[in-house]
Amino acid sequence: MKIKLNSVAMKGEFEREVDHLIEFAHDRGMDLTLIEEMPLGAVPHDRAKSFLPLNTVRSDLETRWTLTPIEDSTGSPARYARVEETGGRIGFITPLSCDFCASCNRVRVSCTGHLYTCLGSDSSINLREALRGSSGNEQVEALIFDAIAHKPQRHSLSVATETVSGIGRHMSVLGG
Ligand code: SF4
Repeated sequence: MKIKLNSVAMKGEFEREVDHLIEFAHDRGMDLTLIEEMPLGAVPHDRAKSFLPLNTVRSDLETRWTLTPIEDSTGSPARYARVEETGGRIGFITPLSCDFCASCNRVRVSCTGHLYTCLGSDSSINLREALRGSSGNEQVEALIFDAIAHKPQRHSLSVATETVSGIGRHMSVLGG
């Protein structure tokens, strides 16, 4: 079984502990993936103060570690580098500082049967009624095709506007 450790980058503790995270993960044969904090859901802290862009983290890491970019892909939007000192992989997921929406092909279905075509949008399509109200797949297929055709080209999240983005849904509702 291959384990990947995900860690959300935030100013403060994270900056002090990231080296230990690398050692912890790579000593155990795990990949480590760093992720920028996305402004979803209400939180008790000021995201403008906690947001830590990963290009800053990467520059800082490169003063202590040798990071060699690699083309590996795990199906996630992470861009990977090899940490030469450990031999392990480190991934960077940068939804805010380096918007990768243009290549996004992801949609998510909630446990209540709603299809979300973008993590950074509150809009969803209710598949449950079509699933329960018809015996064939045509109605559901039509809804899915229409939803994909209207998939947003990118999110409208930003740290500066997170308080007015209107996305009250926490990341945990849909998963990452
Ligand atoms: S914010 Fe939306 S479009 Fe951008 S990568 Fe995430 S799910 Fe895809």
